[in-house]
Amino acid sequence: MSEATKTPAAGGRASTKKELPEHFKAYKHVWVFIEQERGQAHPVSWELMGAGRKLADKLKVELAAVMLGPAGEVTRGILAEAFCYGADLAYAVADDILADYRNESYTKALTDLVNAHKPEILLLGATTLGRDLAGAVATTLLTGLTADCTELDVDADGSLAATRPTFGGSLLCTIYTLNYRPQMATVRPRVMPMPERVERAAGRVVEHRLGIVEADIVTKVLAFLPDRDSSKSSLAYADVVVAGGLGLGSPENFQLVRQLAGVLGAEYGCSRPLVQKGWVSSDRQIGQTGKTIRPKLYIAAGISGAIQHRVGVEGADYILAINTDKNAPIFDFAHLGVVGDAVRLLPVLTEAFSKRLSPHTRDRLAS
Ligand SMILES: Cc1cc2nc3c(=O)[nH]c(=O)nc-3n(C[C@H](O)[C@H](O)[C@H](O)COP(=O)(O)OP(=O)(O)OC[C@H]3O[C@@H](n4cnc5c(N)ncnc54)[C@H](O)[C@@H]3O)c2cc1C
Repeated sequence: MSEATKTPAAGGRASTKKELPEHFKAYKHVWVFIEQERGQAHPVSWELMGAGRKLADKLKVELAAVMLGPAGEVTRGILAEAFCYGADLAYAVADDILADYRNESYTKALTDLVNAHKPEILLLGATTLGRDLAGAVATTLLTGLTADCTELDVDADGSLAATRPTFGGSLLCTIYTLNYRPQMATVRPRVMPMPERVERAAGRVVEHRLGIVEADIVTKVLAFLPDRDSSKSSLAYADVVVAGGLGLGSPENFQLVRQLAGVLGAEYGCSRPLVQKGWVSSDRQIGQTGKTIRPKLYIAAGISGAIQHRVGVEGADYILAINTDKNAPIFDFAHLGVVGDAVRLLPVLTEAFSKRLSPHTRDRLAS
């Protein structure tokens, strides 16, 4: 692998390029791993289909959805959905052994698929499952993996230019896997926009047999215990998010954020120092090491707008920032800035919205 500055076609990189070994030249097409758990496709898979489509069109190759799951309706149903998000074809390993995620069985299935059908690019969601699987697959295939990408592009000679934050988020670097295939990358949920879903008939599905039996797998799933807290925060996919930062001054003042979020039917979030101080739980952190969000409205109160926070919110349609410092970096990217004390303004907004929003609107927002 090699690293270059931000521009995909950066001149310095070309001189480091070696000829792609002959046996990798047969690798063609873009694959997106469709992540499912308990019969539910993770939305990051569709976001990646959108990104994959652009890469495939640039390379003039096919975009394939790749799915591992149980035999039967669940896998067929999710694959049918993949065609609605732009897949030209799909590869599937459908076996009840793959009903629950286990690293061994999924790594075996995916590496076998790659070795058999040779994609040049393989994208996965940077979810807990995707990160675990991507690392194991890249290691097994002895290829490069660029994790947590924020941009994907194809450079002038057709190599994947995978851009991600580096040096604590203060710089972006573009990483290439020049001499190995496939070129692998993971992308966090909500970093890429959700493509439009277009009703389409399911296309060609290439089925592949899983080359192991249950007795070959050391890890056993004894029971599934859902995370009781997992439904509490749907921050990444919320339409409205209200967040607070250190400028609020105390955990008590953070309640003002929660109250405004409650009235708006919004999710609440925070900057990293509030998690570090134990004021707010870590699943509410927004930013480079927290969640990426793309709400229609983001209200940031007492947040400076450091680059590590900014990368998590700049996909928002509209950003309203409240900060006492008119030079705070958040005003560089907010759509509307209010220079003022958030501790005084938040209750005023809460009261105003609770008066102006009709009970119907409030119910709709909250539902
Ligand atoms: C590797 C790494 C990863 C990181 N990941 C993240 C991440 O995922 N998310 C994240 O958020 N940060 C992250 N950070 C931390 C980041 O660099 C900043 O330190 C952090 O975002 C600052 O949080 P803040 O804006 O709440 O606090 P501060 O920077 O202290 O800003 C507080 C702001 O509140 C304003 N203010 C003060 N009083 C008031 C008031 N009464 N009303 C209104 N405004 C007021 C101040 O003017 C100031 O702008 C990361 C850092 C590193 C090194």
